[in-house]
Amino acid sequence: MKPFDYTRATSLQQAAAVHAGRPDARYLGGGTNLVDLMKLGVETPSHLIDLSRLPLHEVEELPDGTLRVGAAARNSDVAAHPLVRARYPALSQALLAGASGQLRNVATTGGNLLQRTRCPYFQDVSKPCNKREPGSGCGARDGVHRDHAVLGHSDHCIATNPSDMAVALAALDATVELYGQEGTRTVAATAFHRLPGDRPERDTAIRDGEIVTAVLLPAAAPGAASLYRKARDRASYAFALASVAAVLELEDGRARRVALAFGGLAHRPWRAATAEARLTGAEPTADAVREAVRAELAQARPLRDNAYKIPLAERLACDALATLVRRAQRPPAAS
Ligand code: SF4
Repeated sequence: MKPFDYTRATSLQQAAAVHAGRPDARYLGGGTNLVDLMKLGVETPSHLIDLSRLPLHEVEELPDGTLRVGAAARNSDVAAHPLVRARYPALSQALLAGASGQLRNVATTGGNLLQRTRCPYFQDVSKPCNKREPGSGCGARDGVHRDHAVLGHSDHCIATNPSDMAVALAALDATVELYGQEGTRTVAATAFHRLPGDRPERDTAIRDGEIVTAVLLPAAAPGAASLYRKARDRASYAFALASVAAVLELEDGRARRVALAFGGLAHRPWRAATAEARLTGAEPTADAVREAVRAELAQARPLRDNAYKIPLAERLACDALATLVRRAQRPPAAS
């Protein structure tokens, strides 16, 4: 392993100042992805800036009903938090669908957002990969790509984003709070991760040296229900082949609001704007939902070995919305 310097940050300001002028420095949270990548030689930072002692662990409700999740809050703590379970079940379910219990006890909210693709060519420094080494080519395009993207990919990269949590955040209209030398700003979760285009080495909209400090979840509307569904090769400790986070608010049998985000299909969580536009204001019957989801997935450009993801994602989305409709229509339990 390449030698590196280590600083235990005592404040956000100090962390950002240490990072300034060192483009190959990396912030360290739980380390569950970064340290693996360092062992593989994919990440070779000259300096690690450890953020784990900063006071960023809190999950707190703000006066306007926003839930603020600190970037250092552990995935298992967020999944188990009573307010997350009660108001944002899709987020709790997505977190519990990710990784293993041991990893969730260490992995942080900020680190989950910033984890890198698990494309095997990215993780193998002997293989070409435009994301790891711009201009070297994409080994996956004509190689092993069963797990890769069907939406929004480019000639330069067909990788998928591995985070379950980020899919739920996209559907829940969350925002990401960032701290940098120019101050604090927020970015919509839907805009935080990028499509690859001709710059696949850039996963996110984060600027050099910025620190993820929190995720902000808007107050859940009364009656809004949400859930997360994930299909994978085995029942746990596996990344999504396809997944969906769905949010539904019904009024008089019609969808006052519907939000749908797919995981495992693209370089970022894929918010299904076409499907949402078709369903908003409509009665979410099985036929209407299927037609809307098919219209969304008509944009897909499958590769040689991953066309199976399209019907898989369709069934997940249809099942998720049908489940939410059934729950909304269930008569209240007698007291
Ligand atoms: Fe690299 Fe992206 Fe191609 Fe995978 S899909 S080899 S991450 S460029």
